[in-house]
Amino acid sequence: MADKIRESAVITSFVLRPVDGRPVIQHKPGQYLTFRFQPASGAQLKRNYSISCGPNSDSYRISVKREANGQGGSRFLHDDVKVGDILEATPPAGDFFLPEAPPRPVVLLSGGVDLTPMVSMVETIADHHPALETHYVHGTMNSATHAMDAHVRSLAEAHGKIRVATFYSEPHPDDAVGESHDADGFISMEWLKDNTPLHEADFYLCGPKPFLHAFIGDLARAGVPSDRVHYELFGPADEAH
Ligand SMILES: Cc1cc2nc3c(=O)[nH]c(=O)nc-3n(C[C@H](O)[C@H](O)[C@H](O)COP(=O)(O)OP(=O)(O)OC[C@H]3O[C@@H](n4cnc5c(N)ncnc54)[C@H](O)[C@@H]3O)c2cc1C
Repeated sequence: MADKIRESAVITSFVLRPVDGRPVIQHKPGQYLTFRFQPASGAQLKRNYSISCGPNSDSYRISVKREANGQGGSRFLHDDVKVGDILEATPPAGDFFLPEAPPRPVVLLSGGVDLTPMVSMVETIADHHPALETHYVHGTMNSATHAMDAHVRSLAEAHGKIRVATFYSEPHPDDAVGESHDADGFISMEWLKDNTPLHEADFYLCGPKPFLHAFIGDLARAGVPSDRVHYELFGPADEAH
């Protein structure tokens, strides 16, 4: 592990480079790695983490939320893993990814730590798709939990066609609409209808189960064809594959 970067009060990024110094297998933006951890105390754990950077031949980055409860995969990364430690991972996998030539505008919709595949997609769009209309729509609790905001906004500004909208469900007293974020509350279907090209875009969704359920249903009811709605669920450990 080559670098460890605190992104928010709960999310830390880990930059990974191959031990043998050779190039990494390039991922598709949205894909994940599967890790096998052996915490000092307890059983071996298998956990998936989406790659949060754009494809390159040098490194992967994953960005992980520390879960205080549970069996400890994320706590192991946050609390025990140091720069220089060796982590074991499988090659990139998964069929949730931005295609090589996106055919229409994209709306990237995420809640909480599920922003990771979206950041990979935004980096890819910034690097390779200068004309692609993109809407990066993200919901989190407040500025303390908000990760990678400055990074995404600087990519958007340089690109010119990436619009960023962030929602805080529990804003801190110091958080202010128009400064730290764009709206209070949760992302809503009404907002998407008014602010995104609902009937032209491909939607990429990543969030907790209720988030996905709500938007998949709402988008279908709004007439968005199911083949334009793509999603990933950061499922529980026993669903890791
Ligand atoms: C495709 C995919 C991509 C993913 N990408 C990311 C990513 O980019 N970043 C990221 O942070 N995570 C990601 N995840 C989730 C990640 O794989 C882990 O599930 C996560 O880090 C939690 O692992 P853990 O071992 O810390 O906690 P787990 O043991 O998996 O527990 C997670 C939570 O479940 C609940 N829970 C578990 N066991 C119990 C119990 N016995 N009683 C009550 N509650 C319980 C707790 O609320 C706990 O905090 C992804 C998952 C998938 C499937």
